[in-house]
Amino acid sequence: RFISLEGGEGVGKSTQLRALGAVLRARGMEVVETREPGGSPGAEAIRHMLLTGAADRWSARAEALLFAAARADHVEKTIRPALQRGAWVLSDRFLDSSRAYQGMGELTDEDILTLHRIGSAGFLPDRTFILMLPEGEAESRAYSRDGDGSDRIGGRDSAFHRRVSQSFARFAAIEADRVRPIDASGEAAAVTARLLRELEDLLP
Ligand code: C5P
Repeated sequence: RFISLEGGEGVGKSTQLRALGAVLRARGMEVVETREPGGSPGAEAIRHMLLTGAADRWSARAEALLFAAARADHVEKTIRPALQRGAWVLSDRFLDSSRAYQGMGELTDEDILTLHRIGSAGFLPDRTFILMLPEGEAESRAYSRDGDGSDRIGGRDSAFHRRVSQSFARFAAIEADRVRPIDASGEAAAVTARLLRELEDLLP
């Protein structure tokens, strides 16, 4: 099975991914933990291009194409081979991040889905968790991690991040079978328990 964890900056995706991986491994499953942008050597090279340099280094269109290219390589080189040998794959971000971050300005949601059809044959996770936190709480967590409270791409304000969170919430509302909202507040262990509850029907 292929599971993605999504959400804005500082909601605890990476922590939860590791915790979920540990629980599934303890059940004897092979688990591959991966991330976007990145997750394969080619996609990690694209990640480096995306996350370094001036904030205006890439136009919105070029940026969306780079994310889609990274995802195509990630799917082909890492995700599909792992699934084929029966492993579970947990990804820190996937397509829905592109829909939320790249698909709500110059490019539309439909544009991002078209790029994904071309790049990755429209390949989707079996389940996607959207980690949700009240706005102020996510910001202070990202602040304590990154030191400056800003995200890693830069040039984005809090209105942008509010729209990102609203987009994620919308996906959960309209694709309720695949996309599940998860309350990311409170103890990490409690959040992991919520994730497992929403995964129960897929577990062997
Ligand atoms: O999840 P993580 O914080 O490692 O993501 C790295 C950066 O890439 C973040 O600043 C996030 O906003 C950005 N990003 C993006 N579009 C995506 C995926 C990530 O702008 N599709």
